[in-house]
Amino acid sequence: MQTENLIAIHPTALLEAVAQQSYPTASLYVVATPIGNSADISLRALHVLAIADAVACEDTRNTAQLMTRYGLHKSLIAAHQHNEHEVAEKIIARLQAGERIALVSDAGTPAVSDPGAIIVDAVRAAGLRVIPLPGASAAISALSVSGLINDQFYFVGFLPSKAGQRDVVLQNLTAIPASMIFYEAPHRILESTAALCKAFGEQRRVVFARELTKLFEEVHRCTLGDAASWLAQDAHREKGEFVVLVEGATADADGDDLEEKRVLTILLEELSVKQAAALAAQITGQKKNALYQIALEMKNQQDVDSK
Ligand code: SAM
Repeated sequence: MQTENLIAIHPTALLEAVAQQSYPTASLYVVATPIGNSADISLRALHVLAIADAVACEDTRNTAQLMTRYGLHKSLIAAHQHNEHEVAEKIIARLQAGERIALVSDAGTPAVSDPGAIIVDAVRAAGLRVIPLPGASAAISALSVSGLINDQFYFVGFLPSKAGQRDVVLQNLTAIPASMIFYEAPHRILESTAALCKAFGEQRRVVFARELTKLFEEVHRCTLGDAASWLAQDAHREKGEFVVLVEGATADADGDDLEEKRVLTILLEELSVKQAAALAAQITGQKKNALYQIALEMKNQQDVDSK
């Protein structure tokens, strides 16, 4: 029987198939939980939560609610940003005694802008096994619906709350060619959008992914210059949870196209300036003369650097 039919016909058989997989003891299971829609949890994650000896979690009330929703009742260990080191020691002792411990955060994937990394580091350092249970993460969900075409992305997470520190971080990101992913709290969305616009300029595209997987899910793409007015159009837009994505730099500080420069860098390793410019024009579809000028400047700079 094909597995897709099992869901419709034999959900119990599917759960049994999940239960028959291997779940080593003396292991920490890092379990992703939903970012809004409680159905976004994997069968394997549910099974691990059901068989774990205890669940380490950011907020016991929050996780107790989540577990109850799935009919699970477990001993919970509070593991938040203020006690991760101590809790890690307790978890290690339990793992050494042969237990299975699950680690969850309030929503999404633990250790991604959430507690968990310190515990995982300590458990690994103690030579114990750490097993990922993949699932929802706001960053990846937002990237997947952004429509930003780029093979690279750079996860920034939360910006510093102090304006000066935030602006320094943003200045260091302006030349990055990868799509950038930010997490932001609703009460700071207006201010940080203005800071993004100041750092990256009005023409850069931005994507707001708001309340993903929830009732009022909204994904909006515009330029940073138009972002403030879009946010202001509806008072609800300053509420809820946001991932903000900014497209990567396509030009460097001199205004030269980064892709053209990347192609020229490779060609200049083997060819003369003239040949490199001619070939780059064919590859990029840009004018040979303009590329010749850029290639010449790059070559001169290389000569200066190598002296
Ligand atoms: N570890 C989590 C993950 O992997 O998604 C992220 C935790 S971080 C403390 C919480 C931030 O994630 C929020 O402030 C928001 O920026 C983003 N976020 C979480 N859930 C979201 C959702 N449903 N829609 C949009 N952004 C969300």
